[in-house]
Amino acid sequence: MSFLNFGLLPALIQATNSLGYSTPTPVQSAAISSALQGLDILASAQTGSGKTVAFALPMLQHVVYQVDSSAKRPKALVLVPTRELATQVGNVIRNLALHLLQPIKVSVVFGGVSINPQMMGLRGGTDIVVATPGRLLDLIAHNALVLSHISMLVLDEADSLLDLGFSEELAHILKLLPIKRQNLFFSATFPSAVQLLAQTLLHDPVQVKVVADNPAIEQRAIAVPAPMRTQLLRHLIGLHHWSRILVFVASKYTAEILADKLRKAQISAEPFHGELSQGKRTQVLADFKASRLTVVVATDLAARGLDIIQLHVVVNYDLPRSTDDYTHRIGRTGRAGETGLAISFISATTLPHWHLIEKRQKIKLQLENIAGFETNITTTTPSTDPQTPQNGGVKGQRPNKKDKLRAFAALVQTDQQVD
Ligand code: AMP
Repeated sequence: MSFLNFGLLPALIQATNSLGYSTPTPVQSAAISSALQGLDILASAQTGSGKTVAFALPMLQHVVYQVDSSAKRPKALVLVPTRELATQVGNVIRNLALHLLQPIKVSVVFGGVSINPQMMGLRGGTDIVVATPGRLLDLIAHNALVLSHISMLVLDEADSLLDLGFSEELAHILKLLPIKRQNLFFSATFPSAVQLLAQTLLHDPVQVKVVADNPAIEQRAIAVPAPMRTQLLRHLIGLHHWSRILVFVASKYTAEILADKLRKAQISAEPFHGELSQGKRTQVLADFKASRLTVVVATDLAARGLDIIQLHVVVNYDLPRSTDDYTHRIGRTGRAGETGLAISFISATTLPHWHLIEKRQKIKLQLENIAGFETNITTTTPSTDPQTPQNGGVKGQRPNKKDKLRAFAALVQTDQQVD
């Protein structure tokens, strides 16, 4: 398979060459032709599999054919759950658009920064908008943007947009979009309830499922007494001379404390979580990508979609709450054909939760003991406090997802009835 097979504009093929993409990835092979035919797509593809290009190429071609110079109203909308992902996706689309004869304007908008420059940027119109839902609605409320000409909608990390408290905003946005439009939903994971809901929003979607089989990611589980996890982390960093490590923790507080402890041990580390200013978040990621930082200690804010090349090690200092989050977290490594290592720290209280993750992931890892950090946790000790964040927490007390989905379905129901 080659990019030449899809019927893409020569300028788009030239862009894939310039970016060094010699052959389409499986999700690109499976999705691009259908997307170019105008079909709806529900794509479940592993993170790092080239999803962005899979929707960006058909989107650019779609927009090129739609552009009318009179009213530069946006024709395509990409919704993403995080600000960093918005920037990343916007950059990919801009890079792919570089060789097109007619300039395509791509506007990236997200919260946490002043709205004024974004409003100024939208003056004179735009072709493609990449947005987080809240800021998009703010811009619409300020009359800086109208969605009346959107004929292609992409939900990137679609399940998270439905799950992370976004569903009300998403329902609002859907009501502002023309009913006749093409929908492309992409995510690494689609919990079944979300999949059912997605089906109600899509029209005869082409189902793309790229098998989540990534031999490039080696997964390990290390038994360690919970109070010794920081020491073990320092030990492993020193032993293996790791130069870029993403460590996941369960709370903003732990992210701050752990990063601080690592810095005191002469390891350059910064926290990354939702309470930092946008400027700080951007700086931390830039420093990490430029190798000015060895460790980023992050909450699940960093688990989705971020593309950090040569990130070879991900550590679950705290276990993720859900199995899907585990998939997203470890997917930060082993991207685009690179190798990766994902290590999970398991202590007595998190062992039952770990077993659940193993079961759902269909993996069974040998629980390792490291000299000096041994613990005997082979016998399952029930967690006394399943919500203790330091220990990773166990899913269960969160707002009920089914309720949220039901509420969302009710909110968008009018759209579907009209259709
Ligand atoms: P994504 O899943 O969109 O985050 O993409 C993951 C990585 O794959 C990015 O670094 C892309 O630059 C890279 N990539 C996307 N398409 C291709 C391709 N056809 N060949 C090689 N690398 C690719």
